[in-house]
Amino acid sequence: MNEGILLIVSAPSGAGKTSLMKALLARDPALTLSVSCTTRAARPGEQDGVHYHFVAPAEFQAALRAGDFLEHARVFDNWYGTRAADVRTRLAEGHDVILEIDWQGARQVRECFPTSVGIFILPPSIAELERRLRGRGTDSDAVIARRMAQARSEMTHADEYKYLVVNDRFDGALDALAAIVVAERHLMVRQRSRVAFAFAF
Ligand code: 5GP
Repeated sequence: MNEGILLIVSAPSGAGKTSLMKALLARDPALTLSVSCTTRAARPGEQDGVHYHFVAPAEFQAALRAGDFLEHARVFDNWYGTRAADVRTRLAEGHDVILEIDWQGARQVRECFPTSVGIFILPPSIAELERRLRGRGTDSDAVIARRMAQARSEMTHADEYKYLVVNDRFDGALDALAAIVVAERHLMVRQRSRVAFAFAF
């Protein structure tokens, strides 16, 4: 069986990454999403083991010391990490695995998986990003300013990725993401072993 593709997806918060990933996973049953560990508290509606594995800081540090993480990073005062064993098992089973992680984690993954495929999602403009971040609720200007600064800092790393998708129209961005996945599956290096007969002459 062919090993699956490891996809890294990053975006500033407010770009629509989570909704796009949900729709992409619903459209393509061969894709699977890696569930990260985090020390942050669950938000309303988030389920342990589904959206994240919510762990105490001591548990996170113990896993880090034990070498359990493929990558880890501190983001917005909390720790996040991807367990290596889960990802390796799923890839070996032939699943294509999506990591929804930040740029720091993406760098670490590229080191140990040079064939991983990085996709960066951007909002159509700074004004639209701010509108989306404001639209989330009743946060103060100070909170919005902090989120905007964090979003800008994430965006400075966009050119470290192979693909760039601008989430202007949701459906268009979703089509682009699906097309990238299909194109990556059809790379010659990934197809060769499936059709050995064609290369036997
Ligand atoms: P949130 O707390 O809003 O779900 O995520 C905050 C940020 O942490 C997002 O940029 C998200 O991509 C990133 N993140 C989530 N899980 C991981 C992870 O396992 N590793 C890294 N490096 N970043 C993560």
